Parts: sequence; C-alpha cells; structure tokens
Amino acid sequence: MPRIGVLSLQGDVAEHIGALERLSVTAVPVRRPAELAQVDALVMPGGESTTISKLLVAFDLLAPLRERLAAGMPAYGSCAGMIMLATEVLDGRDDQEVLSAIDMTVRRNAFGRQVDSFETDVVLDGIDGGPFRTVFIRAPWAERVGDGVEVVGRITGGPADGKIVAVRAGNVMATAFHPEVTGDLRVHRAFVDLVRNA
Ligand code: GLN
Repeated sequence: MPRIGVLSLQGDVAEHIGALERLSVTAVPVRRPAELAQVDALVMPGGESTTISKLLVAFDLLAPLRERLAAGMPAYGSCAGMIMLATEVLDGRDDQEVLSAIDMTVRRNAFGRQVDSFETDVVLDGIDGGPFRTVFIRAPWAERVGDGVEVVGRITGGPADGKIVAVRAGNVMATAFHPEVTGDLRVHRAFVDLVRNA
C-alpha cells in the first residue's frame, strides 16, 4: 500500500489526509526531512504559498524536497501547492521559493479581488464521470506551460474563459482548485493511481 505524505506546515492538511484515507492509502503528515524520506509521494495542500515557502526553509525541507522531486517522487499540489510546484510565480513575493517540478508560470491570486472565491464545473482530461465541481479560493492559474506539461483542465466561460487550472507533468499533478473540500474523490483517486503506477 503506498504511503502518501501531506506537507503539514500550513493550510488545509486535514482535508487532504481525510480524502486520501477514504481511498484506503496510508496518509501521513510530513513536517521534517526524516518524514519526507519515508513517503512514496507527497501532497502539497492549499494555504498561503509565501508562508509555506518560508516554513519549508525554516523546517530544512526545501533542499530535500527539491531532491526528491528531481528524483521523480510523485507529487500533487492544490492551489498554493500548485504555486509551489511551478518554475515561476507572477505577483509573488521576491523571496518566494519555488520547487520547479512543473515547467510553468503561475499567477498568484489571478482571479482578482472581486472573485476571491467561486465554484464552477471543469472538465478534467482523463477523469471520467462528468465535469468536476471546482472550488477556487484566491486561486492561481497557469499563464504558460512548458512542452512536457499536459493541460488537464481549463475554465470555460466568463472572464477567465480558457485559463489553465489543472496540469500534469510526468508524475506531478497540480490543480488551482481544492478537490479536498468537495467530497468528490476523483482527483485524489487519479493521484493515487499515478502513485501506484509510478
Ligand atoms: N493565494 C494563495 C497563495 O498565494 C493560495 C490560496 C489557496 O491555496 N487557497 O498562496
């Protein structure tokens, strides 16, 4: 049974652990390098990417996490986690660290103040069973994705029509939305399947 870590520095950790447990995998919090060394894969939750960046440095996790990702550890980031996995952040803080696991440029808080939070249906490539009800909370979007990056989902309709909100590059997935708050386990299941096949 795969052992999947959830980065537990800040953000909606419990929701991700709960979603993974419902899929019958071992889900464990990761806060220290020794804990990171013991997991097969890592979920990076939503929260505040500038804070998560600072805490990764403070907890001596930044370098070991970069190493694990470079060595091919499967990872999934939602919202702030998606920002952390990018190569470049627009509207970030100058000292904000990134993990460069997915060749993409993301814009923080991209949807703007007037639409801090919203829900919409998004069709996700490779996820059967109809559109996914997505919840966006001060979310980013991807403005550029590199050659090896698969666009899995885009907003349709409204002012953000066409914006990229779900991507995959090899063993690493990211969504700008929060599947852990909806009770729909399909995105987590896709990640667990990816981990099992990795
Ligand atoms: N706006 C947050 C950030 O910049 C992300 C929001 C979220 O994870 N819900 O990190």
